[in-house]
Amino acid sequence: MKIGGFLKQSFIDFPGNIASVVFTSGCNFRCFYCHNPDLVLPERIKENRLIEEPDIFDYLSKNKLLLDAVVITGGEPTIHRNLPNFIKKIKELNLLVKLDTNGTNPEMVKYLIDKKLINYIAMDVKSALEINNYKAIVGEQFNVMELDRVKESINLIKKTGLKFEFRTTLVKPYHSLETIKEISKGLMGNYYLQQYRPLNNLNHHVKYIGQFENEEVEEWKLKLTRKNLCLKCRTN
Ligand code: SF4
Repeated sequence: MKIGGFLKQSFIDFPGNIASVVFTSGCNFRCFYCHNPDLVLPERIKENRLIEEPDIFDYLSKNKLLLDAVVITGGEPTIHRNLPNFIKKIKELNLLVKLDTNGTNPEMVKYLIDKKLINYIAMDVKSALEINNYKAIVGEQFNVMELDRVKESINLIKKTGLKFEFRTTLVKPYHSLETIKEISKGLMGNYYLQQYRPLNNLNHHVKYIGQFENEEVEEWKLKLTRKNLCLKCRTN
């Protein structure tokens, strides 16, 4: 697997667990607010040294008693065909695995779920599930087939017995209370709203785009919770 980053210990990436975080290189989306361009843009990936798998497993083996889990994030982890083998090696160390995904590879998601290779899955839902909403955020290359795949992943994840979460990164003017209501309707479960970070973004024009006030987002959260559209809303 192409690995562009490794965080030895995190207390926040897998709720309730101490986890190492693996950042895979490469992504099929180009979200303009992405704060990991080094993991997304081919020219930036080339400039950065990849991290060797043996170095990661060396650390995990030596520290497995201090860790509960490994979070695999990106970039987009599911574009890597050898992801299942990588996870199998983590499971051999008796560690839990959380996967972050943008949902465009439902076959991989299904395989990992069926083989019991993941314990927690977090999926980004970029906007209401309509082609132009998605294109505005992830780039013009996005197409209807990919949208169908995103929907398929959502349906798959909702049906698993796994712990899961869906989340949306909020960016003005692309989201509103109405958009969030629309997104959350179909999710039936943990739904998280997160603010974009105006730092090191993939597309620099993003700094001229607004962040919502935390108070405004808290108000949305309350409204959604009252309507049972958002069962465990979190803002971060
Ligand atoms: S935000 Fe996630 S899905 Fe979007 S470009 Fe960045 S890594 Fe890819």
